[in-house]
Amino acid sequence: MDKKTTDKLKKMLEERKTKLENELTSFAKKDEKLPGDYDTRFPDFGTNQSSDEEAFEVAAYDSALPVEYALELRLADINRALDKMKKNTYGQCENCPGEIDIKRLEAMPEARACLDCEKKRNK
Ligand SMILES: [Zn+2]
Repeated sequence: MDKKTTDKLKKMLEERKTKLENELTSFAKKDEKLPGDYDTRFPDFGTNQSSDEEAFEVAAYDSALPVEYALELRLADINRALDKMKKNTYGQCENCPGEIDIKRLEAMPEARACLDCEKKRNK
């Protein structure tokens, strides 16, 4: 992979990282002890509320958790890709000795496996 392509993909990864981090901090608190980990804040609509409002709080919290988890996973993949760039192993499939197709990386720069491996995994 040439430097121009790597630079372009690196920029994409960094943009995605910033966006994801902003999304996460909008409803979750960054866990200072665990880098890359976020805790969904329990929504607080104040005390003296009816049981209806309490139920709403619980539902809002429950629906935020899977979103937080999915965003965290993506963020971890992005950090992993950036780390691989530093180690010059970026673009290599993690499951086979092959390389990840450049078109695939342009669409999904945080991809960890080549298309063939990904297809096999999803079978
Ligand atoms: Zn592969």
